[in-house]
Amino acid sequence: MPMTPIGPIKALIVHHTATARGVGYNGIYQIHVEENGWSDIGYHYFVPGPDYDLFPDAKPFLYCRPFDRMGAHAKGHNRGTLALAIAGDNTVEGRGWTPRQIQAGQRVIDAFQLLYPGLPVLGHREVADTLCPGVDLRDVFVLGGG
Ligand SMILES: [Zn+2]
Repeated sequence: MPMTPIGPIKALIVHHTATARGVGYNGIYQIHVEENGWSDIGYHYFVPGPDYDLFPDAKPFLYCRPFDRMGAHAKGHNRGTLALAIAGDNTVEGRGWTPRQIQAGQRVIDAFQLLYPGLPVLGHREVADTLCPGVDLRDVFVLGGG
């Protein structure tokens, strides 16, 4: 199935993967493409778990779905929203985001806010009945605007 154009960008939505923190790109690909049958990973940006990078200075986030294609991450809110997912589960002890993962997520958020000044950065739970991403974004990230 071809991917749908994303339409005008309205917001960035942040997720945790609700998996073990060690999940990497291949693990997400396995779930989204091979198990769910989607055409690509549903997120636009992905921060893998803490064991992913071999090099301490590597930029620890990945681009997944093309930015001009609608993601598959927040039912009813996929049109016009870019998705950032960070590996782990903030609702489970020992599976929460590490400082390095948060730093990587902040880089994505900073880039989004530079490219789309004034547009909101929202946790998934702000638009849907879910615990995801298990934290208040304002407790974790530096967010611009109000
Ligand atoms: Zn989510």
